[in-house]
Amino acid sequence: MKMEVIPQERSWVELDLSAFSHNLDFLKRHLKPHQGFMQIVKADAYGHGAREIAELALKKGALYLGVANVEEGKLLRMQGVMAPILILSPSLNSEIPEIIEYNLEPGVSDWDFAMAFSKAAGKAKRKVHIKLDSGMHRSGLRVEGAGEIYKAIATLPNIVIESVFSHFASSESDPDFSFYQEAEFERFISSLSPLPKYIHISNSAACIKGYGAFANMVRFGIFSFGVNTTADGALSQALKPVMSFKSRISQIKRIKKGESIGYNRDWIAKKDGTYAVIPVGYADGYDFLLSNKGKALVNGILCNVIGRVSMDMITIDITAVADAQTGDIVSLLGAGAESIKAEKLTGLYKGSAYELLCQIGRRARRYYVDGASLLHSAPMSRRDFVADDFADGKLSEIISKALAQRLKSKEMGNLIYRDILRSFFANRDRDLHYRKDFIHEVSFLPSDTKGYYRVKTTLSYRKILDSERFIIACARSDEELRRYFIRRDVEYRWLLDEKLELDENSFHISAARVNGIELNCHIKQQPNSLEIHCSHLRLRELIGQELLFEIDTDTLYPQAMHQFSVFISELTQGVKIAFNYPQEIRVVQPVTVFSGKQKNPPISFEPGRIVVASSRHNWVFPLSGVVFSY
Ligand SMILES: *Cc1c(COP(=O)(O)O)cnc(C)c1O
Repeated sequence: MKMEVIPQERSWVELDLSAFSHNLDFLKRHLKPHQGFMQIVKADAYGHGAREIAELALKKGALYLGVANVEEGKLLRMQGVMAPILILSPSLNSEIPEIIEYNLEPGVSDWDFAMAFSKAAGKAKRKVHIKLDSGMHRSGLRVEGAGEIYKAIATLPNIVIESVFSHFASSESDPDFSFYQEAEFERFISSLSPLPKYIHISNSAACIKGYGAFANMVRFGIFSFGVNTTADGALSQALKPVMSFKSRISQIKRIKKGESIGYNRDWIAKKDGTYAVIPVGYADGYDFLLSNKGKALVNGILCNVIGRVSMDMITIDITAVADAQTGDIVSLLGAGAESIKAEKLTGLYKGSAYELLCQIGRRARRYYVDGASLLHSAPMSRRDFVADDFADGKLSEIISKALAQRLKSKEMGNLIYRDILRSFFANRDRDLHYRKDFIHEVSFLPSDTKGYYRVKTTLSYRKILDSERFIIACARSDEELRRYFIRRDVEYRWLLDEKLELDENSFHISAARVNGIELNCHIKQQPNSLEIHCSHLRLRELIGQELLFEIDTDTLYPQAMHQFSVFISELTQGVKIAFNYPQEIRVVQPVTVFSGKQKNPPISFEPGRIVVASSRHNWVFPLSGVVFSY
């Protein structure tokens, strides 16, 4: 395989997605017209990368994805995979909340779990899949009594039985036992009425052998990865290995007849020769049992692993490779030669090809290729970056390190993290508040109170509701106002002229609504402020949702002030601020201080009205605002 970018690592895994597509096409030709397929992606898709395999399989028509446990399903969800996901193995009761949170579908093997799941499922109809033990005697309901338990589960509230499934114990090699299991499963299925949407029993081998033709879904695993676990030679020719494991020669040495190589002197040279040291051992997933047995491909020539597999090294006989050099690529598994296919290598020590795929390349980066061209590569860690995995302190460290790396400066990374990002959180880590579609109308009108304008304000914005109550504060000193800026439960603040009385005539709320619900407002008189406490019982069930807030006030403002300011106190997406003024004010000069992408929002002037509006999608940072001077 020629790649545009040839990896320079000590070892790497190549995953040929065109081979995976080819295998799926081949397998799909064996489906009956009424059958669809589930792609099995458990154990990180047998070491091939669950996300990449899932996405491609879905593109090629997979109806379902199969994982081993809630963690694997959760990771796929975090990676943006939306398709239905079945958890094949029985789950623990303690995993139920996450199964629900991530919309995963559990395989159910007993009544107790079904009951606990139904209880936790809430009102939404959650899908479950009943596993029947048709003879493998691992998980699943035993056949005797399964009918009653099935019926009882079917009547549980909040859940729907989406499928019934079973699993063959030896579909590769034992037709008699497979026919027996098939008959047990079919007998159980025929007793059900109504039937669930999906019935499935076959894995790769069972599908190829034609078992379970009555089912309408098949679960593809090992064959889709190009590994043939049956004795059928033709199948080996039809499937293409997806995973290849490669390394490089790190040293070439001579050995003399009678000398030994490696631990325990397990290999002794029968004649003089040349051998190579390869920087891969059992810690890289190259199985210890391949000691003195494994094969490797160097410059098109098959070589024997000689001596024991060490933790970090193996040695191969390259006497027959005339032109070998250090740095030459060595293929240890996968494409290139029959002898290095997973099923052949594991055949040498009666091991499992499934296991070898899962364990290989533990210290290797993955390179996804499409035939000859490199698609992308994935880091060594087998788990995608999931922020939840880390404690707060560790996460902060990761963020500042990532910034430093991007900016190529530790100092700038720290500055941005500590002084800029942290200020948004204002020491209330995680509790970042934001608003959207912020519209604030301020109208100055004539008033009966001499020396003051009557001011009507209307404010609307969207925000996630975090409490069933909030406060609107009217302060009579800057200091008092500042106190309300720090408080999180305050949605709107007004600074009242010191000479005015703190009463309803000076400041009152004409409307306070959340999603159209008229809130109950109670005034609390404080020594130097008015607090209007707004709440409604119905808000309790809306907590956590993004809702429309509307606050209208009626108040007074000194004419002699000659300027009026509007501040943005939270991170806000889309800001529109309008100032309406009477004819007697001739000229108004707006000065905008906007931080964010759009530093100079457009300003429009009409007679008696000025509008400052950022574009709807732009984010405006706190402490932005407009000062209107008149
Ligand atoms: C792993 C698994 C499969 C896939 O089997 P292959 O032999 O890899 O095709 C199918 N069904 C269940 C329940 C499994 O656990």
